[in-house]
Amino acid sequence: MFVPRSKDYDLVFFDQAQQCMEAFRPHIVIHLAAFYGGIWINQLYPGRIFYENLVMGAHVMEAARLAGVEKFVGIGTACSYPGYLDGYLKEDNLWDGVPHETVVNYGLTKKMMAIQGWAYKRQYGLNAIHLILTNLYGPWDTFDPDRSHVAAALIRKFVEAKQEGKSEVEVWGTGKPVREFLYVEDCAEAIVRAAELYDDVSPLNIGCGQGTSIRELIDIVMELSGFDGRLVWNTDKPDGQMVKVLDTTKMRQVLQWSPPTSLRDGLGKTIDWYVANKATADMRA
Ligand code: GDP
Repeated sequence: MFVPRSKDYDLVFFDQAQQCMEAFRPHIVIHLAAFYGGIWINQLYPGRIFYENLVMGAHVMEAARLAGVEKFVGIGTACSYPGYLDGYLKEDNLWDGVPHETVVNYGLTKKMMAIQGWAYKRQYGLNAIHLILTNLYGPWDTFDPDRSHVAAALIRKFVEAKQEGKSEVEVWGTGKPVREFLYVEDCAEAIVRAAELYDDVSPLNIGCGQGTSIRELIDIVMELSGFDGRLVWNTDKPDGQMVKVLDTTKMRQVLQWSPPTSLRDGLGKTIDWYVANKATADMRA
């Protein structure tokens, strides 16, 4: 297995995507690369997120098919779903509306990969699949306040507040939105299983299928990090989509699997890792 990094091959440039395929000659490509993050980075860099993710997807799949790759595993996002559906997000509803305005610039770019895969399968016979991932968290995450997703953001805030003896911590929005959190190692296992077992061009959700409100998440992270001060709610920051939780019925059937790590265990492992590696973790932008 090879894991090329962006400093070696910048996939925004087609010739570098081609050089990457030529260097490794892979049978399977798992396209994980993305310029993305939590709700705030979409407000800071909407244009860059749109352009880089759109062209990276197009380049990597085109370079893969030119290099004779047998299987292409496209990694998509729950941000591709319509922004205002009722209930949990089912694969059949993926095309039923526009993504939420806080993430539309990201969600649509990844969704285009699903269409590219469908078109390439039809014309070139490329075995392309499209996996839709939910919010991830775990060791080696990005803990930068502007870029991080909510779990990493809260871990950093509460760990630092505890270490520095602060009496209050700022959290964003109202706490009412509901999200789904998948531990990164479980996600990696699901991707490998899908690469082995799933050969259909129709998208497949990958998640834990369980909703947790931001308020509930805050309570768990506070408890595990030992912070017992006051919360200050900054409602100038957006709530985003009210419910973003994947229906994982199809995943459980086709992968014969469900994620083994509970939210509490996963957060505990992530906090332990963060505390032990704080200096390095904080440097990652
Ligand atoms: P999203 O799932 O694409 O909306 O992105 P995030 O993983 O960043 O989750 C955003 C949700 O968490 C929104 O409802 C935010 O208001 C809420 N939230 C609360 N505190 C924070 C924080 O410190 N950072 C982030 N990123 N989100 C926060």
